[in-house]
Amino acid sequence: MKILVINCGSSSLKYQLIDSDTEKALAVGLCERIGIDGKLNHKPEGGEKITLELPMKDHKDAIKAVLAALMNESYGVIKELSEIGAIGHRVVHGGEKFTKSVLINSEVIAAIEECNDLAPLHNPANLIGINACTETMPGVPQVAVFDTAFHQTMPMKAYLYGIPYTYYEKYKVRRYGFHGTSHSFVSKRAAEFAGLDLKNSKIIVCHLGNGASISAVVNGESVDTSMGLTPLEGLIMGTRSGDIDPSIIEYLSKKEGKCLEEVMGVLNKKSGVLGLSGVSSDFRDLQSAAKEGNEHAIEAVEVFVYRVVKYIGGYVAAMNGVDAIVFTAGLGENDKTIRNMVCSYFGYLGVKIDQERNAVSGKEQIITTDDSKTKVMVIPTNEELAIARETIAIVK
Ligand code: ADP
Repeated sequence: MKILVINCGSSSLKYQLIDSDTEKALAVGLCERIGIDGKLNHKPEGGEKITLELPMKDHKDAIKAVLAALMNESYGVIKELSEIGAIGHRVVHGGEKFTKSVLINSEVIAAIEECNDLAPLHNPANLIGINACTETMPGVPQVAVFDTAFHQTMPMKAYLYGIPYTYYEKYKVRRYGFHGTSHSFVSKRAAEFAGLDLKNSKIIVCHLGNGASISAVVNGESVDTSMGLTPLEGLIMGTRSGDIDPSIIEYLSKKEGKCLEEVMGVLNKKSGVLGLSGVSSDFRDLQSAAKEGNEHAIEAVEVFVYRVVKYIGGYVAAMNGVDAIVFTAGLGENDKTIRNMVCSYFGYLGVKIDQERNAVSGKEQIITTDDSKTKVMVIPTNEELAIARETIAIVK
């Protein structure tokens, strides 16, 4: 069956058409500037990438453009719409309602809407994508796959904040965690790849991309993760601050004469390694600036690494041990220097990095020596394939 995987943002729409038998992406693409003017990047498997300037006044126009590209005579990959058997949507926040992926119906849509307050930038966009598909492809089953669902197994001691309990009861203020599809996919694959029994394993997954989070996975279930109520908590990221003393918000607001929204804007968009370095949110730029001796870039990388190390150490304690530490996402898969810096702290876990193995980029690999007490690995994430697998499992 062919599954259309959709990841809808407020002005963008990423898609992949995946053949569930071969698990290959037949086409991948991205609609940008929806509601402004409109641009579509589309790449069929094994073919050239094409870029089209297409007016897209809303997400429905974007979906129509995607379907037209998928069926185009020269760069399309299917002949008719009926070849698309199901649609899988990435939905960012499922609150406490969704502990796993679900077939979308009107009740599910209403329940996702109820989570809008928890992810005001993401959930409404995800719903627009769902509604646009319902209108353009009526009758095709749609599945919602939530970023938060995998972490719903976290115990109370990991998800409650130390604030009045009434805020949890009234407003569901608690830690949820994100990147769940990736943490789930990568932890499963890591166990398989390393020959560990998932049901009897302790794995730490470091999803280090522009957005970054770490999770502690015991026997295949998430028991803790670094992101919280929103994706702002935890690690220092490309542009996000991660954990800070909450008093900084009031202090900066007074000192800079900024309102709450403005300070939150700084913490989300102007902080992280970008804010620390003043160079870039992209680690490739940071590494080249660091090589040229830029002090702030060097510091930003050190601060980033140190936070990663503290989370890993915390999770080793929480799990009372670890079998494997896994790196994934843009930075985790590609940056051997960052992996080396992180692992240099874990001599006490008996981690021994094999530098030849660690030279790997974007490929599954155990990067420790055969006699290393704890395994460290690189496992590329594939959130789209994970969404397609969830979708097929539900519609079958
Ligand atoms: P997101 O999906 O959150 O936007 P990604 O998973 O694509 O982020 O990761 C982006 C980060 O990965 C950037 O900081 C980028 O510099 C880093 N990255 C991507 N490719 C490489 C590479 N070949 N070497 C080093 N870093 C890389």
